[in-house]
Amino acid sequence: MRFSSSGASFLPFLPSLSGYTQELFRADDQTIKACSELAHLLPGKVFLEDTPEYAKEQTSYWLAQQRSLHPQCHVAPSSAAEVSAVIRVTTANEARFAIKSGGHTTVAGASNIAQGITVDLSRLSSVEPSDNGSTAWLGVGCTWLDVYRDPKVADAGLAVAGARVGMVGVGGYVLGGGFSWYSGRYGWTCDAVLEFEVVLANGEILRVNTHEHPDLFWALKGGGSNFGIVTRIKMPVFEQEDMYSSKAWYEQEYLDGVLSAIEAFNSKALDPDANLFMTIVYDRMYQLFRNVIMFVNTGANTSSSAFLDFSFPTLENSTSITDMGGVSASLDDYYNKPFRKEKFTLTFYNSAALMSRIAAIFRQHARVMHLDEKGPIAMTFQPLTASHLSAGNNALGFSAADGPLILFSLEVYWSSPSKDEYMRVHLQRIEAIMRQEAQNQGLLHPFIYLNYAARWQRPFESYGARNLKRLTAIREQYDPRRVFKDLQPGSVHL
Ligand SMILES: Cc1cc2nc3c(=O)[nH]c(=O)nc-3n(C[C@H](O)[C@H](O)[C@H](O)COP(=O)(O)OP(=O)(O)OC[C@H]3O[C@@H](n4cnc5c(N)ncnc54)[C@H](O)[C@@H]3O)c2cc1C
Repeated sequence: MRFSSSGASFLPFLPSLSGYTQELFRADDQTIKACSELAHLLPGKVFLEDTPEYAKEQTSYWLAQQRSLHPQCHVAPSSAAEVSAVIRVTTANEARFAIKSGGHTTVAGASNIAQGITVDLSRLSSVEPSDNGSTAWLGVGCTWLDVYRDPKVADAGLAVAGARVGMVGVGGYVLGGGFSWYSGRYGWTCDAVLEFEVVLANGEILRVNTHEHPDLFWALKGGGSNFGIVTRIKMPVFEQEDMYSSKAWYEQEYLDGVLSAIEAFNSKALDPDANLFMTIVYDRMYQLFRNVIMFVNTGANTSSSAFLDFSFPTLENSTSITDMGGVSASLDDYYNKPFRKEKFTLTFYNSAALMSRIAAIFRQHARVMHLDEKGPIAMTFQPLTASHLSAGNNALGFSAADGPLILFSLEVYWSSPSKDEYMRVHLQRIEAIMRQEAQNQGLLHPFIYLNYAARWQRPFESYGARNLKRLTAIREQYDPRRVFKDLQPGSVHL
């Protein structure tokens, strides 16, 4: 253990929603005391800034903004009992904290905290299939690639319906919903969850499923970090077939045809194993837009009829037969860039005409944004088929009547902290223009996906007044002191 509490002095704690602005302040006495107590309680699991473990942990965040937040200590419990000890000590000292599973949130300050305590769950990384191989307990600190490549899963030819990109953490992804290559068949990943193990604010460890604490079970499926620290998640495991994956770069002139094909793909939903998303990236060097679609079929079928409408001329095309690990690792390379980033999301009814307008607005603004030399700007349309939306009993607020939808997101990457405010203001403006456009056409769906939402967006309100009220009541029941609201200032609150 390398722990020392020297060098920190008292300054009053100033609560702020934007976690990273707190960097200006030094840790308060309670936080220093809590780190010290935790170091005695959990030897070798508490790290201060001068340690290599701390430095390594800081680089594990997807957002550069989160990498530059410096907590007073990182604490890395390796069991639910240790998480319970961490939450008891932290709350007894009224110290501020952040919870981190994979560190891939899009909200700066949601899973790291300047001068507070970061609860790093990466040591909760076991993958434990049941004896008959039909279910598995997943530690929340696993990345999805850890799960797909775990020998007990991969060598047995098994799969779990997790994230499409390997480096994403199990914990945050499931608590926000979770959009998988298997969503056409099984819905949101949270819909498939069989059980959660959760540590409440008072340190109690609960097993939460359809029979035990069913209200909390529902709330955790989309409710984020408002109820407790989830330590393990039990998921179904199933046999994996070969996975077909293909990327096609379409010429600009075929954009409207491609968007019509996406609308048809989504409304016909011919094949529950067929998935796609379309990204438009602005290439600043050549000052042009590139339209790429990723097609994946989770069944062995390499020529799904669902993809037939996409036979437009392409600039480039690549195809492979692989598995969940292969597809998710291939996407890691693209996304694993240590930039500053900002992202927002909207949800639209299924319409090629609206997608075309949204793409036009994107093109107009992407050109004029003063972008960093290397940082891309990109937007993505993802079909949400009716079966995906209506598969489960979750807090997200969908019904089958919502029909097929389009999940939209826009993200921008840059390097200099001096551009943070500029990027936020600009993105917020683009979001307002796009929202208005969709609203004018009567094609705006209220859903804001927690896992893609910007700090300024209100995902829980988008679940509908009834669900928000129910979530709040469940929060009052399981966290009456509002520990996860008041002491976790950077997270996304109800
Ligand atoms: C490159 C990339 C690819 C992505 N691909 C997909 C995709 O295919 N499908 C999809 O649906 N989403 C995807 N996402 C979005 C992703 O689901 C969210 O960013 C998610 O929050 C990441 O989870 P995490 O554990 O890595 O994040 P973290 O940053 O660790 O946590 C995110 C939030 O959840 C809270 N939290 C984390 N763990 C716990 C826990 N155990 N208990 C209580 N609260 C917790 C944190 O406090 C924080 O508020 C992707 C994101 C990135 C950056």
